[in-house]
Amino acid sequence: MNLLKIFCAILIVATNLLNAQNVYARTISLNEIAQSYKLSLSGNDLVSDGHILSFKDKARTFKFDGIPIPMGFPAKLQKGKLYIDDSVLKKSVLPFIITSYAKYHKVRTIAIDAGHGGVDDGTKSVFDGTKEKVFCADICSKLASILKKNGYKIVLTRPSDKKVELIKRSEIANANKADLFISIHLNSAPNSSVSGTETFVLTPAGALSTYGTKVRTKSFTGNKYDRQNLYLGYLIQKHFQKKIDSGNRGVKYADFVVLKNIDCPGALIECGFLSNYAEAEKISSDQHRYEIASTIASAIIEFDKVCGN
Ligand SMILES: [Zn+2]
Repeated sequence: MNLLKIFCAILIVATNLLNAQNVYARTISLNEIAQSYKLSLSGNDLVSDGHILSFKDKARTFKFDGIPIPMGFPAKLQKGKLYIDDSVLKKSVLPFIITSYAKYHKVRTIAIDAGHGGVDDGTKSVFDGTKEKVFCADICSKLASILKKNGYKIVLTRPSDKKVELIKRSEIANANKADLFISIHLNSAPNSSVSGTETFVLTPAGALSTYGTKVRTKSFTGNKYDRQNLYLGYLIQKHFQKKIDSGNRGVKYADFVVLKNIDCPGALIECGFLSNYAEAEKISSDQHRYEIASTIASAIIEFDKVCGN
């Protein structure tokens, strides 16, 4: 083979690989979803029981009442109709149309994970230099005391300021038979104008992470709870939207180690950007951190009310 042929062969293999990433097992149009589940469709908006699910061509998220919800694959426009992957319908959309889809048992024990501690400082506040681990510990202790007052048993993955390996944290949650796992972080971005809250849940097997380009086929223990994870993430962002005025970056899929092996629904919450001066200043206030903790607690209580039985 001459060089040109070798180049063409490489190009064909590469193109096939790229296409393989975008192959949809089966797609379903918004019109078909509307018909099957007796919803109304207006443009690319499905209306379900007064709630609006807004889709957009090429977007890997849809919005549920304005809150971004991740989809494993982007929506795509074909001959004037918008289609989504069948797995997206089952994992991302149906939990918001059929409430029983995210059904769970009553929550008794909640594992609370302070994202950083010990030698692991996390990021730093641009307002006053406070380490992320200090805010994580404080929000976790406020959250624990609010939840305890509401009758929940609390397990802290990091009861003191020590480094705890990521894998150990899910082991602590599982050993204590936690019914929910909540990991608390503060965010950082190179662009200092970025602000707001976001909640990460485990990427379902066979789907793309929010920032990922490769589909992970392996399923983890945490994937038993894909629907509950997503609904919990949504409720956290819904409550943030109502109470914390810092912008809502929605729910995102990620393969974070702490979420992979937990045997219960879980979420990793980024409670605001320490790299944004105005937000870092707010987070430095004890009252604002209490607001964050009580917002997360309200979301957990609503999750238990809606999904627990
Ligand atoms: Zn962090």
